[in-house]
Amino acid sequence: MTGVAVHLDGLRRTFGAVHALDDLDLSIEPGELVALLGPSGCGKTTALRILAGLEEATAGRVLVDGRDVTRLPANKRDMGMVFQAYSLFPHLNTLQNVEFGLRLRRSSAKNRAAEMLELVGLSDLRDRYPHQLSGGQQQRVALARALAIEPQVLLLDEPLSALDAKVRVQLRDEIRRIQTEVGTTTLFVTHDQEEALAIADRVGVMRAGRLEQLATPSEVYLRPATAFVADFVGLSNRLPGTVTGDTVEVLGHRLPLVTPHADGAVTALIRPEAIEAVPDPDSTVKVLTSSFLGSLSRVTVSVDDHLVVAQVPSGRLPDLPPGTPVRITIQPVAVALE
Ligand code: ATP
Repeated sequence: MTGVAVHLDGLRRTFGAVHALDDLDLSIEPGELVALLGPSGCGKTTALRILAGLEEATAGRVLVDGRDVTRLPANKRDMGMVFQAYSLFPHLNTLQNVEFGLRLRRSSAKNRAAEMLELVGLSDLRDRYPHQLSGGQQQRVALARALAIEPQVLLLDEPLSALDAKVRVQLRDEIRRIQTEVGTTTLFVTHDQEEALAIADRVGVMRAGRLEQLATPSEVYLRPATAFVADFVGLSNRLPGTVTGDTVEVLGHRLPLVTPHADGAVTALIRPEAIEAVPDPDSTVKVLTSSFLGSLSRVTVSVDDHLVVAQVPSGRLPDLPPGTPVRITIQPVAVALE
């Protein structure tokens, strides 16, 4: 199966005075998995529902494989969907749930459903009913059912949100493996930044009904286009800086800018991992708090009355208990400005 291209073109959707979508443009390449990420209420679900045909756009167009499907009802759109709440039929067993909706002769439908269960690793549980399955297993069945119809597009709306942390990560990786294998163009909606970065080819960060940035996970994280993206994806220090040309000086360090900015005073957003706290008995800067977080440690210090969060991989530095005098160094990473 080869994926198709999807274009959301100038989508608007209003609910009374609420602008749920405000001129949203989004293109998904054939076979690509794009994660829509953003805070609650930014319009992620509305965008997915308009693509699915479950919601009407106030303005704009939806193109799938070059075809304008804006006015096409949901059941004519050829899309597979998985939602947060497990939407399995309680009176059907696993195999029957996957078989459901396949417009094939009974024997072919059964074969196809069995194939899909194999794909999601649930062949052994084909006779179980939903109440006999864990949350993660139920979502696998939902995924198998969504893929069984060989949809042009797969739509996943917070499919992992109801699962506990460990199952969530396992199933996330599984979904990525399966999606890559079948090559179906996929839109994945989530408010969880780690999930979006881990699963997607590209992440679309939304804010108030618009796309703020659409880029690869590493670009979004390392070169956030706006302060909003820098803030929403990962932690950021907000520190005063002075722009001169294409660099900004922050706490005595000169750093490159992501986007050009006029010279003068600004607030710079810098990741904790770009800032290191090095023990220095001569420094007047002291560690305020120190937290060991397993694979990394974070310390906070106050420099010229500004709270700075620094991060180091655990084991690389000696313990830095509160009160330790330290010097702050900043790596020359690209910085977003507010
Ligand atoms: P969440 O992560 O909380 O699900 P979201 O980013 O998916 O949020 P949407 O569900 O798309 O956001 O909602 C976008 C905006 O549109 C919100 O302000 C919401 O309250 C509003 N909205 C969505 N559906 C309706 C509706 N049927 N009637 C009125 N307002 C709606």
